[in-house]
Amino acid sequence: MARLQEFDVDEGDRPVGGQAMNARPDTFAEQPVLIVGGGFSGTLLAINLTRLGVPVVLFERDQASLAKGLAFGTRCPEHLLNVRASNMSAFHDDPGHFLRWMGLSGAEQCNRFVSRLTYGQYLRELLVGSLGSTAGRLTVRAGDVVDLTETAQGVSAVLASGESVAGRAGVLALGHSAPRLPGPCASLPPSLGWADPWHPQALAGLGPDGGVLLLGTGLTAIDLIISLDRAGHRGPIVALSRRGLISRAHWPAGPDCEPVPAPTARGAALVRAVRVRAAQIGWRKAIDELRPHTQALWRAHDARAQGSFLRHLRPYWDVHRHRLAPEIAARIAGLQAEGRLAVVAGRLVDATVKDGAALIHWRPRGGGTVASLEAARVINCIGPESDITQAHQPLLQALLTRGAIRPDARRLGIDVDPQLCVRDHLGAPNARIHAVGPLTKGIGWEVIAVPDIRVQVRALARQLAGVKA
Ligand SMILES: Cc1cc2nc3c(=O)[nH]c(=O)nc-3n(C[C@H](O)[C@H](O)[C@H](O)COP(=O)(O)OP(=O)(O)OC[C@H]3O[C@@H](n4cnc5c(N)ncnc54)[C@H](O)[C@@H]3O)c2cc1C
Repeated sequence: MARLQEFDVDEGDRPVGGQAMNARPDTFAEQPVLIVGGGFSGTLLAINLTRLGVPVVLFERDQASLAKGLAFGTRCPEHLLNVRASNMSAFHDDPGHFLRWMGLSGAEQCNRFVSRLTYGQYLRELLVGSLGSTAGRLTVRAGDVVDLTETAQGVSAVLASGESVAGRAGVLALGHSAPRLPGPCASLPPSLGWADPWHPQALAGLGPDGGVLLLGTGLTAIDLIISLDRAGHRGPIVALSRRGLISRAHWPAGPDCEPVPAPTARGAALVRAVRVRAAQIGWRKAIDELRPHTQALWRAHDARAQGSFLRHLRPYWDVHRHRLAPEIAARIAGLQAEGRLAVVAGRLVDATVKDGAALIHWRPRGGGTVASLEAARVINCIGPESDITQAHQPLLQALLTRGAIRPDARRLGIDVDPQLCVRDHLGAPNARIHAVGPLTKGIGWEVIAVPDIRVQVRALARQLAGVKA
């Protein structure tokens, strides 16, 4: 495996590699594209753009996250990818790239679920490689971008330090926003109620025997359970969600699904068709063969039908579509069998503080008596805040306040047109400001995993570089 070079970006908004920031490009074409967010999407877009000869300034506010972002910046080596190594190349047109970097070959190795920490090193190394090989076209800046304004020539990124950087276009690659604690738990003191499950301190100060309540039973809750187990936690863990559904496991063997034509059914008829297909070929294959068509199917449904999917089907879709590595699923099942983990279905009723612990009342699904439990820590695992009007993100707030962006109809992110141009409050696309990654879920639903984002950023890079389709 290739070794990760040491790479450092200090806190002082100092350029690392690339052109000095006061060197003024002579022509519009030499003006850089400004990418805000140096996680997976922003890094990959920067690499694609610089390969096409376009200068880029990549802004990242968190040094530890550079290139890795939230998903691959985990410090826990037991957090595994939920996609097989064979499908994790950063480049759509070079599907074997990650396998070569890992030195993996043969079906058994390529089907593995590698640690996310290792994948983060892969991304960091790609970025460092680009810094060294693109003749100064790529600049990485440490800093929090708090505004992106239009200028006569293009755009200007305003940093929290007050400094501005000019470019010809801007791209928002901000990733996920941390969620807030749901209503009944919002009043718990920070030592008991933890809103951001991805914060490195989420488990800090928790005694090994303390009870833990995870709000949510999705992949974030699974991460927390694995982290607790790895830390030797002995206390009871309860994961609560409305339906108590937990992600299903991948098969150990690789995917072997043949391409199929796009389904013609829509709405409820499509759901019935998928169920029939699942009975014929198994639910995993029935979901997997939809994958190349999911974005088009999303767009083929109107906002009402999309809303209906989100309300009624999303929890079932999520647990079948976003699967666990088999070893993670086995570990979760083991913890349940030992009685150390309980996954329950119900609703929060209220949360108070009693004798220094959180006292939680919740009503089991289907009604019945209100149950109670005590927890030394309540951790929010309900998933990222996708409603940009609710996000704690000064940049989004500034753009919203000026009417430069608006949420998409389903409040899954930012409203963009098919070219990923953000739409202003009246719906007009802005050719100078784009968005990529999970922020653009509104136009395709499945724009969250590596295999989808690598296609999206490649297309945007070619568009910004003026490469004919
Ligand atoms: C926990 C988790 C696990 C996942 N596991 C997998 C997996 O196994 N396989 C898979 O295919 N997909 C996985 N995904 C999905 C997917 O890969 C990620 O959603 C993807 O990495 C998103 O990349 P992004 O760049 O859009 O966001 P991020 O990678 O989160 O990056 C956004 C970056 O922007 C920075 N930023 C934000 N605002 C500003 C600002 N104003 N100024 C400067 N910087 C800013 C942030 O600090 C952050 O580093 C996972 C997602 C999560 C959350």
